[in-house]
Amino acid sequence: MNSTWDCIVVGGGAAGLSAGLVLGRARRRTLVVDGEGQSNRVADGIGGLLGHDTRPPVDFYAAGRAELAAHPSVELRFGEVVSGERNDDDFTLEFADGSTERARLVLLATGMDYRYPSLPGVEERWGRSVFHCPFCHGWEHRDESLGVLDRGESGVHRALLLRGWSDDVTLLTDGDPSLEPDDVDRLDAAGVAVDERPVAGLRGPGANLTAVAFADGGERPCGGLLVP
Ligand SMILES: Cc1cc2nc3c(=O)[nH]c(=O)nc-3n(C[C@H](O)[C@H](O)[C@H](O)COP(=O)(O)OP(=O)(O)OC[C@H]3O[C@@H](n4cnc5c(N)ncnc54)[C@H](O)[C@@H]3O)c2cc1C
Repeated sequence: MNSTWDCIVVGGGAAGLSAGLVLGRARRRTLVVDGEGQSNRVADGIGGLLGHDTRPPVDFYAAGRAELAAHPSVELRFGEVVSGERNDDDFTLEFADGSTERARLVLLATGMDYRYPSLPGVEERWGRSVFHCPFCHGWEHRDESLGVLDRGESGVHRALLLRGWSDDVTLLTDGDPSLEPDDVDRLDAAGVAVDERPVAGLRGPGANLTAVAFADGGERPCGGLLVP
């Protein structure tokens, strides 16, 4: 049998698994390689994905893999592709363990690299009480005291957006006092508070957030924090 795959899909998140499923249904010899680093794995549930709303991401990916397993021309392999090379008629991909595979086509579905602020307390709450997308996490934090850690026009926009999920929203500019007077008026009219004090860290048990702590020693109650 020809050892060249029709397609190697690099990445087994929603995009890569979907591609693998369609290729499997088309009876293409397909290798899906996944490093198991889907960006939303830390979240308790997926928000806003029809048919899967609030479903834990780990369950979602397990269900996707099970669907691939029903297609004999598809193989899912856990590992990392570290390099690729174009040949005359196909591609050679190298894996972290030193092995190689060839494919006529390569589909990159490697996702995005999300970078949250390097503020004490953010990492352990990322994807739960600290989030980047109100459409993904706003519902779970509706009507709580919410904060938006951001500056400039982006901060104003996101604070006004988050107002849809709570009457209690504060824009935390983290030491930046340069809001335009027009923006201050817009925030004020929408009932959004502004706190310009430098932020020192986050407080709360485990992945929960109860307060934002400031460099001056003060704290502000906060159950959910939207970050850039
Ligand atoms: C914290 C958080 C929460 C989110 N919550 C929601 C939500 O509630 N609702 C929503 O709609 N969206 C949400 N998102 C966005 C959603 O997670 C992404 O849109 C989605 O995961 C993108 O899917 P993807 O397949 O493109 O990438 P990913 O899911 O990131 O998957 C990429 C995969 O490729 C693998 N990979 C990368 N490089 C290699 C390599 N060289 N070799 C092998 N494998 C590799 C990774 O290990 C990973 O498994 C959230 C994002 C984050 C960060």
